[in-house]
This record gives sequence, C-alpha cells and structure tokens, in this order.
Amino acid sequence: MGRLILKDIHKKFGKDEVLHGINIETEENQFLILVGPSGCGKTTLLNIIAGLEQESAGDILINDRRVNDLSPKNRDIAMVFQSYALYPSMSVRDNILFGLVNRHVPKSEREQILQDVAHMLQLDHLLDRRPRQLSGGQQQRVAIGRAIARRPALFLFDEPLSNLDAKLRVEMRTEIKRLHQQLKTTMVYVTHDQIEAMTMGDLIAVMNDGIIQQLGTPDAIYNDPANRFVAGFMGSPSMNFIPVTVCQGDGTVWLELRGEGQSVSRLPLPPVLQSGLKSAVDRQVILGIRPEQITDPGSAREGSALHTMELMVEMTEPTGADTLVFTRLNKTPIVARAHPSTKLVQGTNTLLSFHMERAVFFDPDDGRRLA
Ligand code: ATP
Repeated sequence: MGRLILKDIHKKFGKDEVLHGINIETEENQFLILVGPSGCGKTTLLNIIAGLEQESAGDILINDRRVNDLSPKNRDIAMVFQSYALYPSMSVRDNILFGLVNRHVPKSEREQILQDVAHMLQLDHLLDRRPRQLSGGQQQRVAIGRAIARRPALFLFDEPLSNLDAKLRVEMRTEIKRLHQQLKTTMVYVTHDQIEAMTMGDLIAVMNDGIIQQLGTPDAIYNDPANRFVAGFMGSPSMNFIPVTVCQGDGTVWLELRGEGQSVSRLPLPPVLQSGLKSAVDRQVILGIRPEQITDPGSAREGSALHTMELMVEMTEPTGADTLVFTRLNKTPIVARAHPSTKLVQGTNTLLSFHMERAVFFDPDDGRRLA
C-alpha cells in the first residue's frame, strides 16, 4: 500500500520559488529517498506531502486520492522527525499509543499493537520509562514505534538519524530497511547523506536548487548519472572530473589529455562513446571516472580501451577495506581506490589506468551529460 504521486509541485515563500515543478510517482511499497545538499528543498517537499506546508501549485495523491485539501491528520500518513518529537512527560507506552487513543481504537486492539510494535523495535523492556531516561537511539525507536502504531499508508522520515552517532546510524539504517520489508508500506525518507540514500532507497530523487536532477534506482543514479551534479554528489570519494579535448580525424574521434608539463596523450574511444562525443569535436569536455574504476595496470583486466596515466602520489589513506590514493594530473586532483595491500609510496610517480568504457562525459559549462 501507499502509492505516492506528486504532480508539478511548486512552492513559493513570498517571491522566492524554492520548488520548481516536482514530479514523482512511486509504486506501492517503495522506499523513496529525497536527497540533496542543504537548502535544496527536501524538507519543504516532505512537509507539503504531510500537509504541514501549503504548496503553491500542483497535486499530491496518496493511494490515488488527492489530498491537497486534507489536514495532516486525515492524510493517512505518519511522520518521524530528526528531533524525535516525543512527549517528555509521557511513558514510552503512552508515546507509542498516543495517536491510537486519540482515534478511539479499542483498548484490546491497542494492547496488541503495542506488543507488536515494542517487539518489532525491541522496546519491550523500556515501556515504562520517560524519554529522558532513554538514549538517543532508543528515543528514535520510540518515535518510529509511534509512527508504526498508526499503520499509515505512507511513512515520512525527515533526517531521522542525523542526531545519532556513526555506529548507531548504520544499525538504525538496517533496522528501518527491515521494517520497510516487514510493513510493506511506502516510505519517503529525507537525507543529505548520499550513503543513506544509496543503501536504503529503491527509488532516489536527487535534488538541487528546488529541481529533481535525477529520479532513478540507486544503480542508475550511481552508474548512469544524468548530469555532473548527480555524478559529483553521489559517491564518496566523489567521481573524478578530468578536462579533456575531443579531436577528430581519419574518420575517428579520440581524446587529448594534457599530462605533466607539455605532454599530451591521445586516448582512443570505443565506438559508442565516439558517436556520443561527435557534437563536441574541437571542444573541451569533462571526463568523469569513479575512484574504484582507477587501478594500477597490473590488476586491471585487459581491454582495448585501457588507458594508463603517469601520476604523482600525493598521499595515501588506508580505510581498512581499501586504500585511497590521492594523486594529481597537472592541476587536476585524481583519487583512486586501491587494494589495501598497495605498495604505492607518497611522493613517487605511479602508473594508474582505467577502462574508457566506464567513463562518462559532461559539458563543462552546464554539466549536462554528453556520453
Ligand atoms: P536542509 O537539509 O538544510 O534541511 P532542505 O533541503 O530540507 O535543507 P528546505 O528546508 O526545504 O531545504 O529549504 C528550501 C529553501 O526554502 C531554502 O532556501 C530555505 O531557506 C527556504 N525556506 C524554507 N522554509 C522557509 C520559510 N518558512 N520561509 C522562507 N523561506 C523558507
């Protein structure tokens, strides 16, 4: 249950338009993530879905019912906030049951729901405590419990994990995902954390400046970004962006890459990229390649479009699972993700290579995807 449709949502605060025509359609039981940098309009959009903020134009449909004119409590939604928003004077039990008492759900049914929710969230032993007697993680579980108890068609989460420490955030991420699978309800989840977006979402809306830059699965967003903003925002460390010049001659299209000093190397292009870049001949474009696609030539699989660059290692950073290698090509910083056993030494030159098939290309002026 819980299909959400947003049709051409606009929002103005005074003269400032902060949402410029948002269109999203989920399927039933999807986990939709709204992700983007601070101020891009995520919370405003979530509040419009909840009915806490009035849209300037557009339609909101929940389970195919237009809810624009309904108050928040009649929209069949439950919201979980970053600040937990628990009643400090009430016990955990009463916080969880609050919405049900208000809606006159019979006592026996309430008790059953309480038991189910407490069990699902491992809150059984905490039911008599007050919020101040709980850790941040436990308080957030109570807030989620209160939302679940209402059995809404749609769950809305506004950065619910931001106040938790890193380890607890990872645990709660898994817990919320498990709940989504158990409850089989659509969830809309706002975050500025691209790792949360990638790990939790079935469908991700990447937003910037009040516009959806791309709406797609985590795989599409990561591997097939619509533009340079999406490519740079999703992934950590970020995608490398290298300026190259598109050249044409003898019926083929290739790239020129300026290396150290005046050296210029010629990078052959696979046919599929040649046709995509034909419109950019004699111009500079931005080649995008993810750190994990850059390896030392020894461990790269063979292929016709393997390109090798000589780079100066500025720093290495072991993370445990791998080692990040920070290098530079002229003025352009390039990061590679190497095997933890790498022997690359700071201050030395090294050869690193990547497969051209894995590269994506952007217009340097407006960031649109070229190939
Ligand atoms: P964050 O991650 O920092 O919470 P966000 O992506 O959720 O950011 P919003 O809070 O939705 O962004 O804000 C979007 C834009 O709307 C911002 O430019 C913000 O300053 C503006 N804005 C939000 N609420 C109001 C308001 N009540 N009055 C005027 N401007 C507002």
